[in-house]
Amino acid sequence: MNMSEPKQFKTEGLRGEMRRDVPMSRHTSWRAGGVAERMYQPADLDDLLVFLRSLPVEEPLHAVGLGSNLLVRDGGLRGTVLLLHGALGGLRLEADGSVYAEAGVPGAKLARFAALHDLRGAEFCAGIPGTVGGMLAMNAGCYGSEIWEKVLRVQTVNRHGEVRMRTAGDYEIGYRHVLLRSKLPSTAGGRGAGGEGWYSELFVAAWLKFEAGDGDIARQEIKVLLGKRIASQPLDLPNAGSVFRNPPGDHAARLIQQCGLKGRRIGGAQVSEKHANFIVNTGGATAADIENLINEVRAVVRQQTGIDLHPEVRIIGEKLV
Ligand SMILES: Cc1cc2nc3c(=O)[nH]c(=O)nc-3n(C[C@H](O)[C@H](O)[C@H](O)COP(=O)(O)OP(=O)(O)OC[C@H]3O[C@@H](n4cnc5c(N)ncnc54)[C@H](O)[C@@H]3O)c2cc1C
Repeated sequence: MNMSEPKQFKTEGLRGEMRRDVPMSRHTSWRAGGVAERMYQPADLDDLLVFLRSLPVEEPLHAVGLGSNLLVRDGGLRGTVLLLHGALGGLRLEADGSVYAEAGVPGAKLARFAALHDLRGAEFCAGIPGTVGGMLAMNAGCYGSEIWEKVLRVQTVNRHGEVRMRTAGDYEIGYRHVLLRSKLPSTAGGRGAGGEGWYSELFVAAWLKFEAGDGDIARQEIKVLLGKRIASQPLDLPNAGSVFRNPPGDHAARLIQQCGLKGRRIGGAQVSEKHANFIVNTGGATAADIENLINEVRAVVRQQTGIDLHPEVRIIGEKLV
């Protein structure tokens, strides 16, 4: 793949921005990884639909929000990355009291918006450094809450640019797991490498229901939750949050620590000394360093405890040959 600086240009008939050869290290929280062949950041939903309708059906497509759960291999990504952060930023209170949030809205902004409108129950989103779209795709959650518990309905688009309204009943939803029950074979999108298979639709917006309450208490709660994160997570170095899902009845961090893997390094990647389920980029880590360390941790934990940890992070793209 061409490693030159991205050329920026407008594509005819489209109002968004198309770039070529974009280093994904700029769009992932690990600050590592290869180059995306093409990246399109739509101007808004209508523009996204026009773009999708003009896209050749065989073009690989990858949705990216804030890249906070994503490892892009060093050989880069074939096809087009749809960058939804910085686009699809609509956020409003609806007449029925629900919150309409578009896919590119960051979790922290959603939490603050809900507090501003005296709503409770969105506080947990404040510390998740992803977008609403990424949170829906992952069923992100923490401190006893998950995003899909709050969903009234979502708006999706398939890669032909067809918009749909869906509810939780249309999905198989579990711990960091969301899968459309009736996947349409003709609508394959980017493949999540966390073992989730092909995405058939992108999330473009959600209507979320929070409880009426006191905004000051919500803001106080946000401070408390962010304080807990600062105390327990290595936020001073690039990372992607928890690398592995917690196995039933246990914690991945506890198992990794028990196996003596805290501080284990490959190249610039290191198992955090502060939180064993985090891998940090200590400077100059390649995606291969990170992936090799993930594989090593998994193998050691399997060997020593018999438990097979499954990555929560999505690993996509080509290996360098
Ligand atoms: C410091 C830190 C702390 C974290 N803490 C938590 C936590 O407490 N709880 C938690 O659950 N996660 C946590 N995470 C992980 C991450 O923030 C979440 O998984 C988040 O929801 C990812 O959102 P994103 O926009 O960054 O998605 P990305 O990383 O950009 O994408 C993740 C996956 O979602 C897909 N995707 C993105 N947008 C869309 C869309 N609009 N439609 C369809 N698919 C889409 C992508 O294709 C990809 O497969 C943490 C990460 C970090 C770095």
